[in-house]
Amino acid sequence: MSQISLRNIEKIYEGSTEPSVKDFNLEIEDKEFIVFVGPSGCGKSTTLRMIAGLETISGGELYIKDKLVNKTPPKDRDIAMVFQNYALYPHLSVYENMAFGLKLRKVPKNEIKERIADAAETLGLTDFLKRKPSALSGGQRQRVALGRAIVREAPIFLMDEPLSNLDAKLRVQMRAEITRLHKHLNNTIIYVTHDQTEAMTMATRIVVMKDGVIQQIGAPIDVYNTP
Ligand code: ADP
Ligand code: ADP
Repeated sequence: MSQISLRNIEKIYEGSTEPSVKDFNLEIEDKEFIVFVGPSGCGKSTTLRMIAGLETISGGELYIKDKLVNKTPPKDRDIAMVFQNYALYPHLSVYENMAFGLKLRKVPKNEIKERIADAAETLGLTDFLKRKPSALSGGQRQRVALGRAIVREAPIFLMDEPLSNLDAKLRVQMRAEITRLHKHLNNTIIYVTHDQTEAMTMATRIVVMKDGVIQQIGAPIDVYNTP
């Protein structure tokens, strides 16, 4: 069976009459890099948030590794997340922010140190580990948010526009970093973006959404080369 299975998933927000996502069917295999694209408001974030467990599912079934998880709380899904507006803990240092999820999961101290040192090096954060988020730029904060996910080494990463606040140069660099990371961790990534270059360079499969439904699923070359 697939690693993640979305079957007829539907989302109707409270107070809405129309579904924001409907008839959503997708089988995601282990180690895929899936990118959701489509115009603003088409339901990309809603779908990601349902997979994360941050949004209730109105209809259909969501399976992760054979287990029905419609009602499973986020912390019990083996998922690490990076969101555009991911709130870092303001009273904790960069190091403590990255260590938080690992301490929760009882990862040994030495291992935590090692993983954070590696991630900080990758993300250019080594000199900032003692700082509070308030003493960082927007781009640096976004890298800390990415670092928090990286150190988890979770089998599933969900990323919602994780590079949107970065300048062009850093975005190109981080794109390569995420691709490298995906190969290194050998995990499954579901990634939401507006950026066609990101989708084309990183995806193994692209899911094109429009008005809450899937319009097309295919390899980057198929999605962007159709007449
Ligand atoms: P995308 O990520 O593709 O920009 P979203 O998933 O954010 O799209 O939104 C899909 C639709 O659901 C939009 O019409 C949006 O207005 C609506 N929506 C998103 N969040 C909420 C909410 N909390 N309550 C009501 N409607 C929402
Ligand atoms: P971790 O780094 O392990 O995700 P956190 O303290 O950041 O640790 O998150 C603990 C749990 O809170 C997560 O496993 C997830 O279930 C939930 N969570 C993470 N990010 C968000 C978010 N942006 N909004 C709401 N809940 C979240």
